[in-house]
Amino acid sequence: MSIKIEHLNYVYSEGTAYEKHALKDICLEIPHGEFVGIIGHTGSGKSTLIQHLNGLIKGTSGAIYYNGENIYQDGYDMRALRSQVGLVFQYPEHQLFEIDVLTDVCFGPKNQGLSQQECEARALEALKLVGLKEKYYKSSPFELSGGQKRRVAIAGVLAMRPKVLVLDEPTAGLDPKGRDEILDQIAYLHKESDLTVILVSHSMEDIARYADRLIVMNSGEVMYNDTPKNVFAHYQELEKVGLAAPQVTYIMHDLKMKGFPVGVTATTVEEA
Ligand code: ADP
Repeated sequence: MSIKIEHLNYVYSEGTAYEKHALKDICLEIPHGEFVGIIGHTGSGKSTLIQHLNGLIKGTSGAIYYNGENIYQDGYDMRALRSQVGLVFQYPEHQLFEIDVLTDVCFGPKNQGLSQQECEARALEALKLVGLKEKYYKSSPFELSGGQKRRVAIAGVLAMRPKVLVLDEPTAGLDPKGRDEILDQIAYLHKESDLTVILVSHSMEDIARYADRLIVMNSGEVMYNDTPKNVFAHYQELEKVGLAAPQVTYIMHDLKMKGFPVGVTATTVEEA
């Protein structure tokens, strides 16, 4: 699995008074197995970008290659792409609606026409991967806590056995405990199941601990695309675009505590 984005542009409501150039000449490569963080302030283009990855939005210009094939070429199998690139939207629990958890997680595979037995096997596997206790499998999704609901929603995407898992702000609205649990679970999934993970967040803290690489979006452009260490070395520029310095210095401090070789001077860290 690999994703390559070449000179991608996206314009909302082109030719109207509401025209918005949301993505500007994006060029990126995401190799198999990487854990990529996408950060940027609200409105920087993160959600628009990830919706291109499984063809939900079609670029105004440019190309996206999935495993070397241009997804915009005639006859490209978008349905297959959507099952390989699983997208977990913001507040995904709003899309839970079945009578119980197991039935809900079966929904995607069932839609693909798989047998009941296969659907259940996949749903059980996915629920295990997200760490939901078995006693909840027959509960109504609405009886669960916020963090549990989110696990069920992620399991619904994993049941399609994607190769790439894209999560848009998976910790939004959760308390700090729920937030850490979901992030740890995503890190576990990445490690255990050979998934490429693309995690979108506006919070440095959320992703800095896990991502192999950070993509920083600013005003529809890729501002940085590098290792966390190299990105954080630009903390003054990050601060200028609203990625607050206290957060950045906090993370550098935190990473240093964990033995991460952050590229800052000792004084900077001590000042944090
Ligand atoms: P982010 O996910 O980083 O918050 P978005 O991708 O949602 O950013 O938005 C990027 C830009 O596109 C913003 O200026 C936003 O207002 C605009 N935008 C997003 N969705 C729409 C839409 N459906 N119609 C018009 N403009 C939109």
